[in-house]
Amino acid sequence: MAIAVVYYLRRCFTNVIEMKIVIYFSSAVKKLIYFAVAVIISSLILFINMDYFHENNTIPGNSSVNSVPGDAKPSVAGTTRAKLAIIIDDFGQNRNGVAEMLSIKRNLTMAVMPFLTYTRTDAQTAHKNKHEVIVHLPMESYKGEPAWVGPRPIITTMKDFEIKKLVTDAFNDVPFAAGANIHMGTKAGGDQRVISDVLDVIKGRNLYFVDSRTGNTPVARNIAKKKKIICYENDVFIDGKDQSLDYMKNQLKAACEIAQKTGKAVAIGHVGAEGGKITAQAINEMLSYFDSKNIQLVFVSELGK
Ligand SMILES: [Zn+2]
Repeated sequence: MAIAVVYYLRRCFTNVIEMKIVIYFSSAVKKLIYFAVAVIISSLILFINMDYFHENNTIPGNSSVNSVPGDAKPSVAGTTRAKLAIIIDDFGQNRNGVAEMLSIKRNLTMAVMPFLTYTRTDAQTAHKNKHEVIVHLPMESYKGEPAWVGPRPIITTMKDFEIKKLVTDAFNDVPFAAGANIHMGTKAGGDQRVISDVLDVIKGRNLYFVDSRTGNTPVARNIAKKKKIICYENDVFIDGKDQSLDYMKNQLKAACEIAQKTGKAVAIGHVGAEGGKITAQAINEMLSYFDSKNIQLVFVSELGK
């Protein structure tokens, strides 16, 4: 009997010990599971955060890092917008289209001829209306009436110092000028010595040059490259050849195609006899087209290098 009791008690004791061990190990397994779940959740949170920063890679409030002022803004679709710079020549004299052109509320570059009745007022109004202003340098041409070139044109028989003095005077006469392009100039615009003198003055003022490419042999780009001056070339004349609205709008579409192919384009129109009110109307009627084609109208200074 006593043996039976001892056996029974021992058995009970063993069961209790075994239960405690089971309970102990169950508790340990639970803790392990909790620990593992916590590790997994922490890792997931860390991973998601790292992925977010990797994709955004920006400093809050400093989104313009690595961007150039005036650089193309990304479109809604995330692609870079093509840039079109429209220059309007011949401000300073004939009033045809001047008011209409100056009232267009888009980035246009107004080329103002020096030494004329409305030179200063046109440049000042263009600047006040938030347009870019450049000097429209009158230069000797093979064709056309001498009066068309203006009162003080640059001619190929001038000495270097005379050309530089004339260009300096022109810049002093056109306030707010950010650069220069050529008025007429089929002869002087293709003369390497003359263009070199013009570009020296522009370099001294840290401005840009636009070769309007009125002649058959544009020389400015190569000379400007050697002198390290920013130089653009005209791609399309909007008006001049044909005074119809349809022709001008088609020319603007051609400029858009160049911009879409190469990223940027320059188009030149006129106030006065060569375009005026119709050119202003063509630009106004094309504004929605530019937007629909994701073309950004920019100042020449915004074209980049
Ligand atoms: Zn001109």
